[in-house]
Amino acid sequence: MSKKVPFVTKAQIEEIAKEYPTPFHIYDEAGIRRTARTLYKAFAWNKGFKEYFAVKATPNPYLLQILKEEGCGADCSSYTELLMSDAVGFKGHEIMFSSNATPVEDMQLAYKQGVIINLDDFTHIEFLEKVAAIPETICCRFNPGGHFAIANNIMDNPGDAKYGMTREQLFDAYKILMAKGVKEFGIHAFLASNTVTNDYYPELAGILFQLAVDLKKETGAHITFINLSGGVGVAYRPEQKDNDLMVIGEGVRKAYEAILVPAGMDDVRIFTELGRFMLAPNGGLVTQAIHQKHTYKEYIGCDACAANLMRPAIYDAYHHITVLGKENEPCDHKYDITGGLCENSDKFAKDRMLPKIDMGDYLFIHDAGAHGFAMGYNYNGKLRSAELLLQEDGSVKMIRRAETPADYFATFDNGAFADKLNQAIEDAKK
Ligand SMILES: *Cc1c(COP(=O)(O)O)cnc(C)c1O
Repeated sequence: MSKKVPFVTKAQIEEIAKEYPTPFHIYDEAGIRRTARTLYKAFAWNKGFKEYFAVKATPNPYLLQILKEEGCGADCSSYTELLMSDAVGFKGHEIMFSSNATPVEDMQLAYKQGVIINLDDFTHIEFLEKVAAIPETICCRFNPGGHFAIANNIMDNPGDAKYGMTREQLFDAYKILMAKGVKEFGIHAFLASNTVTNDYYPELAGILFQLAVDLKKETGAHITFINLSGGVGVAYRPEQKDNDLMVIGEGVRKAYEAILVPAGMDDVRIFTELGRFMLAPNGGLVTQAIHQKHTYKEYIGCDACAANLMRPAIYDAYHHITVLGKENEPCDHKYDITGGLCENSDKFAKDRMLPKIDMGDYLFIHDAGAHGFAMGYNYNGKLRSAELLLQEDGSVKMIRRAETPADYFATFDNGAFADKLNQAIEDAKK
């Protein structure tokens, strides 16, 4: 039996579904606040610590607002994310702009908003200077190359990643940027994704802290912050052990004491850019079983599909599933849980042992709160679902309505078919 417990009950979902039909994403305000508070507690030893929530993980202004209230900033990578963060009230250095292959307009908006720009590449110095100007505070993204391993376990392959500059480029960048008037520097690196080990941040911190000491020694640059970025993962599988933020924070503190403090760099602020860790477990995709099929396998067809949560389809990622109301029944049926895309990869689970599923049962797909709705798409003419917020007082607020066919057709609004598409919508309702 699984230890993963949904933050909503069957009775709650039955009530909610009366007003908001499935499928929908639902988020847990109390859980989001709890996670943010734990993160700040784990790094309370560092004066000026700040989490810049990775907006791309869950780009919803209502959720950004909650994180802002908890003291978080926003990490943006595009023009629209900058706009959304600005609208929520994040200003200036409350926003990090970590982009790559950056369009001119995006860079210009980041400069205009006065956010902290994280340069992905050496050539971006010239690019930034050409399209805007060099600000007084800037961050450079580092890529050490090779493989990133912890205790001989390869975690990821930075040498094959498109992000960041080499060590040599970073040193040159700092010198050039200083000559161009930069007063405060940051270092950023993202070396491994979805790590489920308390060692990732401390190991990464060790590398970046030493780099900071070397950079300061060689260039004299004033390094004011080090951004450990994202990559702290969640236990998607029930048998995995969750990361422990308090242990992680303590591990980073040890590296800080061992490397930065002796170098006289005890005023460096630690930044994080967690997305998945903040939101994934605090959101679920709720879908209803609407078909069953008995062929070479047992299939349950749902009203959600990969367009609502694509991680299983593209990464073969595991997402735990709870059949609401059957939490304590034995998992003695083997199913493939599918969506309705004309794509055989559209399966939320394969050969999954679950309680017997009846038509109309609600399935809670866990850990969908980050990189879930956000990666949604419209293939097969599927529409994006609503997003709901389970508020701390137990009430539910719709924080994004479901798409309608008119939304899907909206970008044909200046063409010959605009009126015909609208007419088709009306005819179908008759
Ligand atoms: C995606 C991303 C993050 C967040 O990653 P998670 O795995 O969701 O924590 C943070 N920073 C940058 C630059 C990213 O691209």
